[in-house]
Amino acid sequence: MTDTSASPAVPIAACPYCGREVPVANFCGACGAHLVHETVRAARRHHAYAAFPEEPVLRLAVTSSLFPHLSHRAKVVFRTAVGLIVVALIGLALGGVEAPAIAVSALGLPVLYLLYVYEVDDPTRASLFRAVPPVLILGVGLGIGWGLIAGHYVNEALAPTLDTSLVRPAALAAALAVPAIALVLMAVPVVVVRARRGRLDESLDGFVLGAVGALAFTAAATITQLSSLFSVGQFSDQSFVGILTQVGIRGLCSPIMAAALIGLFGASIWVSLRDDHPAGARWLGAPASALVSVLVLETGVGFADIARLSDAQLLVCHVSAVVVSLAAMRLGLHYVLLHEAGPSEVGAPSVCGHCHFVVPTMHFCPHCGVARRATARSHRPQPALALEEP
Ligand SMILES: [Zn+2]
Ligand SMILES: [Zn+2]
Repeated sequence: MTDTSASPAVPIAACPYCGREVPVANFCGACGAHLVHETVRAARRHHAYAAFPEEPVLRLAVTSSLFPHLSHRAKVVFRTAVGLIVVALIGLALGGVEAPAIAVSALGLPVLYLLYVYEVDDPTRASLFRAVPPVLILGVGLGIGWGLIAGHYVNEALAPTLDTSLVRPAALAAALAVPAIALVLMAVPVVVVRARRGRLDESLDGFVLGAVGALAFTAAATITQLSSLFSVGQFSDQSFVGILTQVGIRGLCSPIMAAALIGLFGASIWVSLRDDHPAGARWLGAPASALVSVLVLETGVGFADIARLSDAQLLVCHVSAVVVSLAAMRLGLHYVLLHEAGPSEVGAPSVCGHCHFVVPTMHFCPHCGVARRATARSHRPQPALALEEP
């Protein structure tokens, strides 16, 4: 077999940011810095998200945020599926049909996420899909228990009272304690499975399993809480905007926010980050940053829930929280991927799983800048045998 790693066709130069000898290309294969720009911002590359470098870090995009391993073609399919869930929820709210609305709002995104894990799985290298059942069972169990207990406190806070203050004990319990405890419970599944991660040793494995646990939790809690509303007839008495608000929050806002932020927490606890990356700001990918983001946002929507807002105002609050949580998640995950330790040597030429150019195999693709670990294992570069001399 020809050793193509030392091919003289690839010019090598020292990266001005990390100092390593890397191929002369758009991006540094070792640290991911954008070599075309020559400012300190090139190492942070906020214009080129590490999982999808053709997008800026701060782009409002649900699909590329929650499904970071997808190829371009699969991203279109999953984006269409997310759109269909939104259309189905609006249609069911318009038709006022409660049972299907509850089913789609509780199960739409979680089922889609399981399809995603199956799509990007590669059991021959390290199977993410096989790690899902314990996370799922834990998340569902905790979610059902939580749905039964938390519903009581939230209903108590929402009950008619002469004291409309947001700092009365019941209101504080519903707005502060309920989200804080829910957050801890949502994070339990990914923390439990981290100890037995085996060959699943990449930050995005932690992200995906964190998101699965959070989605299982929110789905089980949603079914438990909405079923009780349904059984006492509260759900059917609501207007179109009221039902749309319920299913929009339960079916989209809560699960997207939970999956994004608990996913980020999962990624941050999954790997240890190196401290010599030229981008700095390693704290943005730290578990504490993820926890603070989720706590602030969940508490914010907790107060919105009990502030007796109109349905439309409540929906706007939750959608705003989703926008902020996606931004926090993408920023945090970008820094996790930049700081995640990986090989810095110039490997053999192979096809990049993201841009499909033949490039030296490195931690970052020298052509498009994608973090190699943000491509599905099944799409990872294989040695380009066709390039070898006969
Ligand atoms: Zn570099
Ligand atoms: Zn590439």
